[in-house]
Amino acid sequence: MAGLWDAVLRGEAAVRRAATAAVDTALLEGVLMRTEAEPNASDVVSYAPFTLLPSAVPSALFEQAYAVQQDFNVLVDAISQNKEFLERTLASTIKVDDFTARLFRIHLQVLEEGLAQSVFLGINRSDYMFDCGAPGVPALKQIEINTIAASFGGLASRTTAVHRRVLKVLGMSEEASRLLPNNPSEGLASGIAKAWELYGSRSAVVMFLVEQVQRNIFDQRCVENELWNRNIRVIRKRFRDVFEKGSLDDARRLFVDGQEVAVVYYREGYVPKNYDQQNWEARLLLERSRAVKCPDIATQLAGTKKVQQELSRPGMLEKLLPGRAEAIARIRATFAGLYSLDVGEEGDKIAATAIANPDRFVLKPQREGGGNNLYGEELRQVLEKIKDSPERTSYILMDKIQPQPATNYLLRAHSPLKASECISELGIFGVYVRQGKELVMNEVAGHLLRTKAVEHADGGVAAGVAVLDTPYLV
Ligand code: ADP
Ligand code: MG
Repeated sequence: MAGLWDAVLRGEAAVRRAATAAVDTALLEGVLMRTEAEPNASDVVSYAPFTLLPSAVPSALFEQAYAVQQDFNVLVDAISQNKEFLERTLASTIKVDDFTARLFRIHLQVLEEGLAQSVFLGINRSDYMFDCGAPGVPALKQIEINTIAASFGGLASRTTAVHRRVLKVLGMSEEASRLLPNNPSEGLASGIAKAWELYGSRSAVVMFLVEQVQRNIFDQRCVENELWNRNIRVIRKRFRDVFEKGSLDDARRLFVDGQEVAVVYYREGYVPKNYDQQNWEARLLLERSRAVKCPDIATQLAGTKKVQQELSRPGMLEKLLPGRAEAIARIRATFAGLYSLDVGEEGDKIAATAIANPDRFVLKPQREGGGNNLYGEELRQVLEKIKDSPERTSYILMDKIQPQPATNYLLRAHSPLKASECISELGIFGVYVRQGKELVMNEVAGHLLRTKAVEHADGGVAAGVAVLDTPYLV
């Protein structure tokens, strides 16, 4: 796999020319991000960071990732409806992790009251790396599945055109024509539009719930644009707006600022720092409402790392997806080794193994958004410290995946042009809509490739570590 563009990478002048053309094409195509200096204004914007060249992806693994996505959609949806499974799986976590505990309390509270929502919309992104740890061909291994605020579907829809141009500038038109079309924006919007339609009020709006810092607004605008094109109104609001101007009527229809909301699309609410007391109250109001939440709180919980770890237990998928042996086999084939650190013999044993072999594992807390995992010496120290305390249950352990690095250039505003050894992570977007018990949409919406320099163990594009990329199938 390494060495796909070796000949190109030797020509320094050509690389410079291509990089200049690449940046202008990115701006032209709308691969945009607001600046760190002015994250909430669009007066001056820049390009979202991206690789100069597309990265090699084994076509068999790419196809495998597409082929399993509808199974993952069904699985996430099944978990979200399985109160008993969520309760049992998260029982140890919520004792020590306050954030998961608060989400879980809202989950129970809305179930107790009875769900007003009858249409459900899931937008998720299942992320993978290509593991070369074992001898033989690389294997597709899932890193995690994101069931809330899965981002970069918008900008990914515009990145292929940039790489197509770069390859042409470098004299590789044939290779340029091989880059696959990719339009997650359209796929995500069609799910939102379907949910909006089933909600059944033409005057109701779609509400994007957004964070305080909105550097990645253009990624969201790509999806928003698709909705306006279908004559669906979109508003952008914060939790605070919901707290101040949100209400439910007798039928628990949600109104914000006088407008009825059909669909709430969360691009916020996935980490503790998104919440103060008012925001928690706003979240509860939204969850109690009849509006379609993308995701509802149960689906957010289905995306926790503790759930991911429990799914890998023998027999668990069979319980959750009875009678679906083929789907189960496809899903299970993507699992890396995952281990519970719950108090007890099983947890003691794996903790000791990880302390003795820290480089074989990743230690993960129940957090999203990158930059939280522990590796190597740091993993050893932390685990040594917490190994005899219940605190360890707020983490899971996972086998460390070992991708094959490849050389590329990471283009970032104000950064010098230099080659880096890089690894990539492939994400596949899934979209589904359920009305009552019936799944009325189950789609794969496209892909996202993110690439980072090998020295960065952790972190995504929004965290400033990874950059956008395009798969070049080999
Ligand atoms: P987050 O919810 O913070 O995105 P992830 O599980 O996606 O958490 O981990 C963040 C990053 O850490 C991933 O993008 C990947 O680069 C790295 N990572 C996570 N799990 C593994 C693993 N098992 N092996 C190697 N790298 C991993
Ligand atoms: Mg991740």
